[in-house]
Amino acid sequence: MILLTGGTGYIGSHIAVELLQAGHDVAILDNFSNSDETVIERIESITEREVILYRGDVRDTLLLTSIFQSHDIESVIHCAGLKAVGESVKDPLAYYDVNVYGSVTLCYAMQQAGVKQLLFSSSATIYGVNAQPPYTETMARGESSSPYGTSKGMVEKLLEDLSDSDPQWSIAVLRYFNPIGAHPSGLIGELPQGTPNNLMPYISQVAAGLLPELLIYGNDYPTKDGTCVRDYLHVTDLAVGHRMAVAALKKPGVNYFNLGTGSGISVNEMVEAFVSATGMNVPYRFAPRREGDLGAFWACSKKAERELEWRAEKTLEDMMVDTWRWQQFSTKTKRSH
Ligand code: NAD
Ligand code: UDP
Repeated sequence: MILLTGGTGYIGSHIAVELLQAGHDVAILDNFSNSDETVIERIESITEREVILYRGDVRDTLLLTSIFQSHDIESVIHCAGLKAVGESVKDPLAYYDVNVYGSVTLCYAMQQAGVKQLLFSSSATIYGVNAQPPYTETMARGESSSPYGTSKGMVEKLLEDLSDSDPQWSIAVLRYFNPIGAHPSGLIGELPQGTPNNLMPYISQVAAGLLPELLIYGNDYPTKDGTCVRDYLHVTDLAVGHRMAVAALKKPGVNYFNLGTGSGISVNEMVEAFVSATGMNVPYRFAPRREGDLGAFWACSKKAERELEWRAEKTLEDMMVDTWRWQQFSTKTKRSH
């Protein structure tokens, strides 16, 4: 059985579906701080399989101990965490508490239980503000621009120290680029709280008429069309990457993998792709650069291709169509916080 923390969240719910469909048994631990219980029903309806749910906090040692005692857990995928960069600047303690202390608590409980296979959700942000794209796993972690980024780098470092102390640990650190899209069923996807900060949910909420227009932050970057460039990948491809990484979790030590497509798409191209895939109107205007934004980055994804035999397969059009299907489902069922 695999324990999946944060398994009702955006990425975790897609990982749960992928693992269940591949025949794994899955137990989810989530405190629903950024999701809700109906996600479980929807995961079960897509997969026609049952999920074991623990409603609780990853910082709760007693709960973790009882989970490890009750099931034969082979490995843990640790997605639970806080992820809003701006919020982390305003409330850094919450980010160090949940993201760093939560990971320490989880690793302690794993160590006690003798479970030493772990996948950790990290981020391209750990390459820092001065790295030159494409980012490769051999690059050092760079200077972080937020407590969120620092918290991810701190967990990466503590996992290295843990593995140095005990070679029985087998750890894969997966550095996500920009996951977007939703499950093709339209039943699970991202639920941004309030007004979205991220580009994709913002575009789809403008198209749905929930927001008046998109502001494109900056058209004077040294990029192909002046707007920022990112490496967007479909969230179901990201989920497949986790299944492949679990299968490869046999080697001792910490293994780092970038999960991205390997190519960069500009904000203008994203808007054009959405309009062309859905036929919807997305009014936009250019606005000043957003503080803290990097002009362009994308992944070198060759290591995951080579060692996990994973490659992002979905097209930009798939990402747009699936985002829009999910937006329509969530508008209809008022599934936004
Ligand atoms: P999400 O907020 O949708 O999912 C996180 C889940 O963790 C939620 O269901 C939330 O309720 C749960 N959670 C939060 N704190 C918890 C706690 N203390 N105990 C138990 N459960 C808790 O976020 P997501 O987009 O699915 O991200 C998952 C992971 O991937 C996070 O660690 C995030 O930092 C990382 N990540 C996300 C992105 C992205 O663009 N979405 C990019 C890079 C890395
Ligand atoms: N962006 C934008 N308008 C928005 C939200 C985002 O122009 O309302 C741009 C942002 O400047 C960045 C890109 O879209 O260049 C991706 O932003 P997002 O927040 O989704 O991802 P991140 O910046 O974390 O990579």
